[in-house]
Amino acid sequence: MTRNQSSASDQPERSSNEALDAKNERELGARPSPPRASRSLLRDINVGLLIELVRQAGSISRAELARQSQLSAPTVSAIVEHLLERGIVIETTTAPSSGGRPPVLLSVDPKAGYVVGIKLRGDGLTTVVCDIDAEIIASQDYYVPLVGDPVAAIAAIEHETRRVLRAAAVPPSKVLGVGIGLSGIIETSSGVCKFSHLLQWRDVELAEPLRRRMGLPVWVENDVNTLAIAEKWAGDASTAQDFLTLSVGRGIGLGIVINRSLYRGARGAGGEFGHMIVEPGGPKCECGRFGCLEAMVGEGALRRRVGERKGHEVSRDELLTLVELGDSAALEVIDSAGRKLGLAVANVITLLNPELLIICGEGTSLGSVFIDPIVSAVREQTFADLGRDLEIKVQDWGDEAWAVGAATLVLRESFNLPGADDRSQAIWHRSGSSSSATTSEASFVNG
Ligand SMILES: [Zn+2]
Repeated sequence: MTRNQSSASDQPERSSNEALDAKNERELGARPSPPRASRSLLRDINVGLLIELVRQAGSISRAELARQSQLSAPTVSAIVEHLLERGIVIETTTAPSSGGRPPVLLSVDPKAGYVVGIKLRGDGLTTVVCDIDAEIIASQDYYVPLVGDPVAAIAAIEHETRRVLRAAAVPPSKVLGVGIGLSGIIETSSGVCKFSHLLQWRDVELAEPLRRRMGLPVWVENDVNTLAIAEKWAGDASTAQDFLTLSVGRGIGLGIVINRSLYRGARGAGGEFGHMIVEPGGPKCECGRFGCLEAMVGEGALRRRVGERKGHEVSRDELLTLVELGDSAALEVIDSAGRKLGLAVANVITLLNPELLIICGEGTSLGSVFIDPIVSAVREQTFADLGRDLEIKVQDWGDEAWAVGAATLVLRESFNLPGADDRSQAIWHRSGSSSSATTSEASFVNG
């Protein structure tokens, strides 16, 4: 993994940028044969299903693929043949023979395609390049003020995408697209940020201008939702039907996956869990209202409350140090916040009855003093003991996790996982149905 820390001063002036752009036009924008047809083929529902089954199995025979997908053997063979030609699937070791000819096994080549993932913050962006297994190939940070300045964001995204692809040294023809995650309400079909209180943006077009400038597909999604997509693609939730990702940190967010699809709500604002008011007239929240959960138990609230007890402002690093030292004021504040958050989560568990809860985000670095009371409340405060059977996982948090989440957005869209921004999600059936198989077979042959 490459990690480059950059500062704003690293960005070239406009004139040298233009020269860079001209060079990158040749690298990115003016590719001789954009793999449009291949991308649309990958979005075929049965192709997506087979790729997912191969990924989950690690290696699998054609016969077993046909059995699990409930597609006909000729359909499986035809799709596999095409995926072999494209280099997405490779033939690997043979299974132990029980007499007769041993079957050839198939695996997905993680280096068959690459995706760019970008997490936007108020003070800049983190950009990664990942392979198909969501492993990081290159990563970099760039600091530039983005609050209230979407024009700067678009320029920075383009610049950083070109820079990270050069650092990763992946062939442009293998780049499947760019995924962008940010806090706010996102209209995913158009790639428009309808509203972000963190960035102070309203109705900002992101996907379309970036597609035009970079010549690559671009998808935009709420950052908390990208964490749920990442868990589904390459994390702890790969086989889960109904699960929640709870992100704790500066913000408190919830990614909701129901029946293997991300729940986004009518206006894309589903899951704004941190802005449920839990104490009317309580502390002012960044959203402008009072007493939101986030304003009670988010990182800012913890630092403020510990600071009040200590008589001075407490930074994030100091908060972590106080926890390490076992400072009683810090431990009390964090324990109390964990209980309050846990109760709110328990209520959501009672509402949705998921099978799995994944706790992630920067706040997990506070460790057991914060996590244990959350888990206890979930175990003890749910209706009919729903929380007792619930599987709870705490994610090891890395700085790049948000950007990797944004990268998996491209993987989901490229390989047509459930919830991809496409009508086909409506007919996705894990067991396969005859009607969807017929439709897909036709489009595969015609495509
Ligand atoms: Zn709020």
